[in-house]
Amino acid sequence: MTQGVHSTVTGPSDLHLHSNHSDGTETPAEVVRQAQAHGIRTLALTDHDRTTGWGEAGDAAVSRGMTFLGGIEFSARHDWRSVHVLGYLFDPTDPALVAETDRIRRDRVGRAERIVRSIGRDYDLRWQDVLEHTTPDATIGRPHIADALVAAGIVGDRSEAFDGILHPRAGYYEPHYAPDPLTVVRLITRAGGVAVIAHPATSGRDRMMPVAYLERLIAEGLGGLEIGHRENTEDGKRMLRKIAARHDLIVTGSSDYHGAGKPNLPGENTTSDEMVSRIIERATGSEPRTP
Ligand code: AMP
Ligand code: FE
Ligand code: FE
Ligand code: ZN
Repeated sequence: MTQGVHSTVTGPSDLHLHSNHSDGTETPAEVVRQAQAHGIRTLALTDHDRTTGWGEAGDAAVSRGMTFLGGIEFSARHDWRSVHVLGYLFDPTDPALVAETDRIRRDRVGRAERIVRSIGRDYDLRWQDVLEHTTPDATIGRPHIADALVAAGIVGDRSEAFDGILHPRAGYYEPHYAPDPLTVVRLITRAGGVAVIAHPATSGRDRMMPVAYLERLIAEGLGGLEIGHRENTEDGKRMLRKIAARHDLIVTGSSDYHGAGKPNLPGENTTSDEMVSRIIERATGSEPRTP
């Protein structure tokens, strides 16, 4: 961590934002504009299971004098737990990584159709309604079904849909294919990227993945933990800080902005210049884009 490397990163940095290439409501260029309007100077676009927004977001960032890091948020699963793994500065053309994201995205379509068919037995909702609220090729998921439920006047907003009809307890939920986190950490690392577990403590201590499993991921190349995130519990953050210190992990903080789809706003959590530098130094798969 030399002075020279540090000087290349200019915060505030927000390393977790979504566009309409997955389940955000804005184009990549609009996400960048919003990030800048909230004071962000370095950002990463982390669409679910998809990297197609990098070009537009990178161009927008550079033209605004900002720094852009290519990113992704992988939908993984450990036992019954949904685990999200962020990847930064990997090679987006890596064949193994691309094959896995294609597989997840393909399975998400059939899964969303099954959920909608099941909801359609009790409510006036059809697959076509969901497609009308989705950008073609977006990484489709429950947020898009939520938008269709809102448009149909069945719920008021995405959050109400998630707390009700889309909650697994409501009985319409279906899982989609998801690789285990170990596979994802290896894929990102072998593609030259840095893997970071997203919001690892959203459900509290008892439901967080076991520390022993986290340590296996670290042994396999996991680079960091997203500790600054509104959904991590305070107890969880304390525990994660201890684990990060013990293993000298990268620690990030980010907004998980989804445009109008969630209350999260750019810059509500940020990552230090030192930690962004560590990500850039460690990655070999792609370069950040700078003005
Ligand atoms: P899925 O991957 O299709 O099961 O949907 C999960 C996605 O829904 C996550 O990526 C979240 O970004 C989003 N999500 C979860 N809860 C909410 C909420 N309350 N409001 C809006 N979006 C949500
Ligand atoms: Fe999302
Ligand atoms: Fe997530
Ligand atoms: Zn996210």
